[in-house]
Amino acid sequence: MSTQADQAGFQQARFTGRTVIVTGAGSGIGRATALRLLSEGARVIAADISAERLAALEQSSGSGELVGVAGDVSLQADVDALVLAAGPTVDGLVNNAGIMDSFLPTAEITDEVWERVFRVNVTSQMRLMRAVLPGMVSAGFGRIVNIASEAGIRAGASGTTYSASKHAVIGLTKSTALFYGPKGVRCNAVAPGAVKTNIEAPFLSAWAAERLGPIMQTTIPAPAEPEELAASICWLLSEDSPNVNGAVLMSDGGWSTI
Ligand code: NAD
Repeated sequence: MSTQADQAGFQQARFTGRTVIVTGAGSGIGRATALRLLSEGARVIAADISAERLAALEQSSGSGELVGVAGDVSLQADVDALVLAAGPTVDGLVNNAGIMDSFLPTAEITDEVWERVFRVNVTSQMRLMRAVLPGMVSAGFGRIVNIASEAGIRAGASGTTYSASKHAVIGLTKSTALFYGPKGVRCNAVAPGAVKTNIEAPFLSAWAAERLGPIMQTTIPAPAEPEELAASICWLLSEDSPNVNGAVLMSDGGWSTI
């Protein structure tokens, strides 16, 4: 029978020797995931558009091996620089960076908002996977987690553009899982509900409250802590989920059951 200490040792060892890229690691879910991975032995390549947030992450990271890379994941050149910084072997990728800057219904969408949200939420995920998959296939090992949303399986409460972008993340995830599962790469999505992060700020705007307030107040469970999402993400990255590929893990406190 295993003791508590054995179990703690097993947990600690889950990512020892693994290099994992986490985008949007300066805040919220990405930050909590980077810290969790570090605490479980991973070498973490943390990417964020904000150098200040990365500096704060580095201050909190303790003795683990953290490489911070400031850049915009919606730009191909910055994706190239990020993958170069990670080195030749990338075992895991958490495509987490995302924005939610529009609550607009379809007839009010501007091209500028649509293109920006898709570049950050979708194109960046495709480009990062495109960059790391050849190495993962050569190694016969890769673990990818793409961050979607409850708005990726239904309309959600965040506007048409965001919902469409998160539906695209799920299609990207399933198709990648289908092609690369037989080559040793598992690719899954985590769909958060409401989480206490900086992305919530627009949710709380008077404009959004006016349009969505009644819906939100009646259906959204209490917001989760970012660490609760990190636990879901790390489970999918780990060998505790060996038969899970192409899945969408609803980590939303049950919100999407309504
Ligand atoms: P957050 O705003 O707290 O953190 C996102 C981080 O991504 C920030 O540090 C930001 O600087 C960084 N970032 C933004 N654009 C970037 C870019 N172009 N390049 C590099 N870094 C960039 O948000 P969060 O809530 O932790 O969001 C993480 C993911 O979770 C997103 O994909 C989001 O859509 C998803 N999500 C969040 C919620 C929620 O309620 N918080 C719900 C569903 C899905």
